[in-house]
Amino acid sequence: MTEAEIATPHAQGGAWSFLVAGEERQFQGNTGYEDIIEESYSYDSTVGNYRRVSVGDLVVVRSGREALGVGYVEALQVLPDQEKLRSRCPYCRSTGFKERTKESPRFRCSPCGNAFEQPTVETLRVTAFRAHYGGTWQPLDGCLDKAQLNELSLSRSDQQSIKAMDRARTLKAIASRGVRLPRQWKVLDRGGNRPPELPGGRRRTTAAIRRGQDGFRRALVRQYGLICAVTGAAPAEVLEAAHVRPFADTERHRVEEGLMLRSDVHRLFDSGLLAIDSDLVVRIAPSLAGHELYSSLAGAPLRIPGDSPIDRAAIADHHAATVATW
Ligand SMILES: [Zn+2]
Repeated sequence: MTEAEIATPHAQGGAWSFLVAGEERQFQGNTGYEDIIEESYSYDSTVGNYRRVSVGDLVVVRSGREALGVGYVEALQVLPDQEKLRSRCPYCRSTGFKERTKESPRFRCSPCGNAFEQPTVETLRVTAFRAHYGGTWQPLDGCLDKAQLNELSLSRSDQQSIKAMDRARTLKAIASRGVRLPRQWKVLDRGGNRPPELPGGRRRTTAAIRRGQDGFRRALVRQYGLICAVTGAAPAEVLEAAHVRPFADTERHRVEEGLMLRSDVHRLFDSGLLAIDSDLVVRIAPSLAGHELYSSLAGAPLRIPGDSPIDRAAIADHHAATVATW
């Protein structure tokens, strides 16, 4: 894919990263943020850059440490004159205090150093927004980390929930990590009403969290992007972290002994039907000759960069043990 092809489909428009609520999002006295991160992001007129987000813009949803996913803004709901509660430190009026889970009093204010049980709560009138991008959403599963996101940002501030990104460079970076955004998208006519939740939206969220909790997979995604080492770029949902040495034998999770594989390829690899030879070329068991989908993979070079840390001895051991059964 050339840079021009990557940039062409939606070359116009802005690009943003949205910080999602969670442990990393400091308690800023806000309430009412309830988003399914794969579907939409809510913000209001107290947030910097709120006026600038538009339909067609690229958005990368991020946590405090990495990129979670990407999509295009397909619809933007505007909810004028909403009531919002904002909590302040009762001593210095700052909103920059944090909730503590284990200590008492429950809140501590870093600007003034006081701790307290109850913040002062005030009511604001704000314009609320909800940006919908679920129709184009692609999970990133941390294939870009915080430092890489900062590199693509147009602002150096870590405090901003909505940060401007360099659109062309961001599109290029995610494409190089195996992410394939749809070229076609339509502006959804959702009027002023909140759209129905996606069926299974919660399930998708749970699945993303489960994928993300696996440290071995996380490390491999960071190393290789969302790219199957045998078949190439694939959706995050079907990409797995494969152990080149059976995990039960080593009980280790070494990036050097891991490959990103599409789930069906992973099964073949673990079942002794697919191996990688010493030239890092794919070999397929003769018993699969009747399955064109898989037999056609034979002879393909492994799709990993030349400077990959892959443990060639582990690949050779797997290859020897596998082809001995063919
Ligand atoms: Zn204070």
